[in-house]
Amino acid sequence: MAIKIDLEKAYDRVRWDFIDKSIQATGISGYLRTVIMSAITTTTMKLCGIGYPLKNLNLQEKGLGTLEHLDLPPPRHSAGADEIKWMLASSGKFTIKNAYQMLTINSLYNRNPRWKVIWKYLGPQRIQFFLWLACKQRLLTNLERARRGLNHSTFCPMCRHNTEDVLHTLRDCSTIKEIWLSITHPSWQNQFFSNDNIFNWVEENLKHNEWLIWANTSWPTLFGIVAWRIWKNRNFFVF
Ligand SMILES: [Zn+2]
Repeated sequence: MAIKIDLEKAYDRVRWDFIDKSIQATGISGYLRTVIMSAITTTTMKLCGIGYPLKNLNLQEKGLGTLEHLDLPPPRHSAGADEIKWMLASSGKFTIKNAYQMLTINSLYNRNPRWKVIWKYLGPQRIQFFLWLACKQRLLTNLERARRGLNHSTFCPMCRHNTEDVLHTLRDCSTIKEIWLSITHPSWQNQFFSNDNIFNWVEENLKHNEWLIWANTSWPTLFGIVAWRIWKNRNFFVF
């Protein structure tokens, strides 16, 4: 990184013509005077690598402007003592919220509004977190354990299906399919079992209230509780 301070702006009592006249007054040759003035009044500079000049670097050509933004007032006592401030808050005070925003500002993944449906889940927080883990493929099914080198077998320990992924564990395993069939409306069951993406499946269930055959109950809430209970039972059985 190269920073070249605009001396005329940084020290607002100094003018280019004053510096130029001062140089003339010292009797410095015209060539050297031109070199000095071009060095301090332009934004073009030359970088050297191990003593050899590299190609010219013109900051304006690079779109970096004339560095007018470095027009800072000189330090003065009236401004008070230096202090540490958090630049992301107008108050200058550090907050976790600002720090989190700074860390995630370039993360497209976290900006995906689809995740909001999980964080708006109306139910126990541990189930909200469980659904988030499921959608992130973080539940340690046998497929996931094999992928991480923790296990050789990808088989379902409940029904011996050859691949125990998250969707199989929570929905498709023959040992738990009856649970869902007993609480979903027959007209919705084809759709309920057809989704082959865990995130889409969870999202769909958290958005639809009409899938329940029992009155006065929130399907999204019940869905999360049942899915969580299925995972807990699976772990009781395996371990
Ligand atoms: Zn199974």
